[in-house]
Amino acid sequence: MADLILKPGKERSVMRRHPWIFAGSVDRLEGRARAGDTVLVKDAGGKPLARAAWSPESQIRARVWTFDCEQSIDHAFIKRAVAASVARRASHPWLAKQDGVRLIHGESDGLPGVIADRYGPVVVVQLTSAGADKWREAIVAGLVQATGCSAVYERSDSDVRKLEGLGPVSGLVFGEMPEQLTIVENGVRMEVDVAGGHKTGFYLDQRDNRLLTGQLAAGRDVLNCFCYTGGFSLQALAGGAKSVISIDSSGPALATAARNVALNPQLDAARAEWREDDVFQALRTLKTEGRKFDLIVLDPPKFAPSAAHADRAARAYKDINLLGFRLLNPGGILMTYSCSGGIGLELFQKIIAGAAADVGVEARILHRLSASPDHPIGLAVPEGEYLKGLACQV
Ligand code: SAH
Repeated sequence: MADLILKPGKERSVMRRHPWIFAGSVDRLEGRARAGDTVLVKDAGGKPLARAAWSPESQIRARVWTFDCEQSIDHAFIKRAVAASVARRASHPWLAKQDGVRLIHGESDGLPGVIADRYGPVVVVQLTSAGADKWREAIVAGLVQATGCSAVYERSDSDVRKLEGLGPVSGLVFGEMPEQLTIVENGVRMEVDVAGGHKTGFYLDQRDNRLLTGQLAAGRDVLNCFCYTGGFSLQALAGGAKSVISIDSSGPALATAARNVALNPQLDAARAEWREDDVFQALRTLKTEGRKFDLIVLDPPKFAPSAAHADRAARAYKDINLLGFRLLNPGGILMTYSCSGGIGLELFQKIIAGAAADVGVEARILHRLSASPDHPIGLAVPEGEYLKGLACQV
């Protein structure tokens, strides 16, 4: 096994148990390693610190599997880590009863580059680092054993793989897929398109925030922007919303939303209106139509994948939130989100405050929102906190 020798002083973040070793921290590699191979990380004086997956093409040159240097990284190690991650969900009373649940959340679950989401009998896995890619077989075997699932589908088609020098990989890796895959989330049945949907098919991170939306929706006129397959909209209907307008630019997502409405005959479909449109445009159209709402959800895609995009993203966030505040009735609530890693909570709150000030409304935060607990944030990995939201009442 090769040794990765750090530059002097660069051992500090590893000693704080941060799992990423950036290119700038690496002094040299002693010995040979291919992408994904395990290397022994040592400080400048030669003291072993961690075992990590080598990723020569990425700016994150190595990702730590373990800080216990006695531990060997093999099939059994990976399977144990997968089983432990699955067991943490099973021991959480709220997560244990979910049909749809994230089983492995990468670094925060000690498995850098590994995402696994369970949708009923199917587990979808996404591998985004060279190390994760190398251990595909062990990860899949571990998931099958720990969950007893009937199929594992791989969706390693995320762009971030390019940064690791990896191409896209998609398809069934174990078992057989059911003809139609649906989950029940907070009493609402939702179709999950694991082959063609976004990410692994569904946005599990918003589960608990969708539930809150349902609880706030009774008797209200609701607007759901960036609705995807209608998760927030259907919870709002279930919660007794008077009306729900939902907007997304994706035709296929709206087609799934329509099927989701049909899957839930208990909901009053006549209260729902769906618009295929660009949200930036649609909000202006609603303004000219003179429409007003009591509850508005803004859950846009990642405008800032990294801090380098923060400026442009900040303008986009401000723009939609400004329009959102303008469309609220007095007493109305704006539930606004950012899933951009490059925009921190503090900056996000500033942007929202700026939007409210520009519109001239007084608003207060009722709820600070984040991803559901199956997307934990490792205390040593604050970068894991990508999703942040505010429920603001005017
Ligand atoms: N709230 C959803 C997830 C939203 S994901 C849920 O709970 O499941 C972001 C969505 O924004 C995607 O469905 C994407 O199609 C849509 N989108 C991206 N840019 C858009 C734009 N400019 N206008 C409208 N929709 C857009």
